[in-house]
Amino acid sequence: MGMLEGKKGVIFGVANERSIAWTIAQALHNEGMELAFTYVGEALESRVRPLAESLGSKIILPCDVTNDGQIDAVFNTLKEKWGGLDSLVHSLAFAKKEELKGEFLTTSREGFALAMDVSAYSLVALARGAAPLMEGRNGSIVALTYHGSQKVVSNYNVMGVAKAALECSAMYLAADLGPKGIRVNTISAGPIKTLAAMGISGFKTILDMVEQKAPLRRNVTQEDVAKTALYLLSGLSSGVTGEIIYVDSGYSIMGM
Ligand code: NAD
Repeated sequence: MGMLEGKKGVIFGVANERSIAWTIAQALHNEGMELAFTYVGEALESRVRPLAESLGSKIILPCDVTNDGQIDAVFNTLKEKWGGLDSLVHSLAFAKKEELKGEFLTTSREGFALAMDVSAYSLVALARGAAPLMEGRNGSIVALTYHGSQKVVSNYNVMGVAKAALECSAMYLAADLGPKGIRVNTISAGPIKTLAAMGISGFKTILDMVEQKAPLRRNVTQEDVAKTALYLLSGLSSGVTGEIIYVDSGYSIMGM
């Protein structure tokens, strides 16, 4: 019997089979968790639906995180169908392609607001929707972040600022929700070749750098990240909240 048998989780952020969210979903499913999935727009629905159905998922809903109506609809459906929720995975981010190259100095007001709304505020909105369903169930929320929040990474620009806001939001949410037994943590993943990552100019250089300099001398995989997500979304991490856990082959510990 799996460690998560009888538990229910909702996954935000599957775009295709390379998505970090998809590998996390598989890891949770393998431990017996029942899953709901969301997608953005019709084009992605045709990719997400078959993946979700392959794990036996019966709840597959549209959710653009900038749309409060769609967020409400997701949590209303989960309440109606499941009556409660144990896990939430926030594995999504967005910035305009032109803001992910060149100087941060040129970031537009609109581009800054959009990146913050989709990539950081969304965690607040989703946690607010999930919290009433997680009360009394030791709920756990996990969001994906990147080291460009703490140090300057060329071309990461406005997304670094959004990830800093995401990490800090996770801390404040952990403080608010801790008394209800709900935990909120982030995983700071090393670079992985996914759809979102390909939007970052010079991404291949970042991958090469990790391979050369990280203590483990290799890039991490979706599976490396999913194993840590499994830890954070299960009772194995029952005393851990408000943390940023690095899954980056140790790259972030290196100085000169
Ligand atoms: P991905 O492209 O597979 O996933 C990104 C997801 O964000 C997609 O499913 C997309 O639909 C979703 N999304 C974008 N705008 C949205 C919106 N308005 N509403 C709802 N969802 C929206 O790429 P990924 O690499 O798996 O990214 C998942 C998370 O991991 C992101 O937060 C990303 O910043 C983070 N991350 C990625 C890497 C990496 O190198 N790939 C490293 C560290 C952190």
